[in-house]
Amino acid sequence: SLTAGIIGLPNVGKSTLFNAITNAGAEMANYPFATIDPNVGMVEVPDKRLDRIQELIPAKKVVPTTFEFTDIAGIVKGASKGEGLGNKFLENIRQVDAIVHVVRAFDDDNITHVTGKVDPIADIQTINLELGIADLDAVNKRLGKVERAAKGKDEDALAEKAVLEKIKPVLENGGSVRSIDFNEDEQKIVKGEFLLTSKPVLYVANVSEDDMADPENSKYFKLVQDYATKDGAQAIGIAAETEEEIAELDDDDKQTFLEAEGVEEPGLNKLIRASYKLLGLETFFTAGGKETKAWTYLRGTKAPQAAGIIHSDFERGFIRAEVMSFDDLDQLGSESAVKEAGKLRVEGKEYVMQDGDIVNFRFNV
Ligand code: GDP
Repeated sequence: SLTAGIIGLPNVGKSTLFNAITNAGAEMANYPFATIDPNVGMVEVPDKRLDRIQELIPAKKVVPTTFEFTDIAGIVKGASKGEGLGNKFLENIRQVDAIVHVVRAFDDDNITHVTGKVDPIADIQTINLELGIADLDAVNKRLGKVERAAKGKDEDALAEKAVLEKIKPVLENGGSVRSIDFNEDEQKIVKGEFLLTSKPVLYVANVSEDDMADPENSKYFKLVQDYATKDGAQAIGIAAETEEEIAELDDDDKQTFLEAEGVEEPGLNKLIRASYKLLGLETFFTAGGKETKAWTYLRGTKAPQAAGIIHSDFERGFIRAEVMSFDDLDQLGSESAVKEAGKLRVEGKEYVMQDGDIVNFRFNV
């Protein structure tokens, strides 16, 4: 499954954030086949639509979908000695599908900053420089190969050479591959290069508790946001330490705490949703009866493959999908009202799933 890897300089709050994630963790009883890896934090994806569906199509049980964060620092620390930590770090970043890059954006004289000064942009650049150098290295190596092939007028080689030559100067100037505009054909080539700075990034500014309700008030957060925009990335502000405390509270205390902080929900929810989106993940629902359940699929997935996420038999024997959109159910207020309005659709093999679809798959066994 797809996962977002947490990275950042030492002492910026990565472990604190990862602890918050694992404490808030998914109700493991709901996921009996989940593998348990200490570097993976599984969270439920908060989705208010589930409550509304349960209200309109009551089921015995409601099960949210899940999402995984990987603590790359944790993996690197556990890496066997002798091997360069640097290489291990890059190798682990290569394995994840998106990057959650944590930077320090809080003042606290008691917590040492590795460079002696709170400067989130310098922190980001320190890591991105490493990633950029690794990419530049890869691009140069590949260019050498492709240039030889391109002499033979191999069209694919020529196209790849053009893309690599577009990437190279950007990396040389400290930029990232993700900040470059590519057309569709170029994008396919870029994907095949597996470059670190082409992965989607979410910058997480670890702000102080005072800025939790409104990270925009933090001067550090604003800097991170500006940087993210130029980098073709996104930024959010989270108070990691406070999130860790919140994650330990039971539901009632949590509500009281959040109200006192003047926020509607834990910042962790924002992090989960932003990372989910970053990975191109969307949600469909199956509703009613024994359980109402949210399922995760990759944007662009067609109906039979979506059915296969529930069970491989569903994909093999796929006949059709009966679909209503969450918005229609929400507005019309009942399943039968959706039917009467002619908004219960019958979709075939080529149907591309839409976020919020409530589906009943029909299949042969
Ligand atoms: P890591 O090295 O990036 O994993 O950093 P840690 O999560 O271990 O955090 C380093 C130190 O900063 C710890 O002592 C944390 O308690 C502290 N810390 C983390 N987040 C915050 C925060 O939002 N505010 C304050 N004041 N301290 C924090």
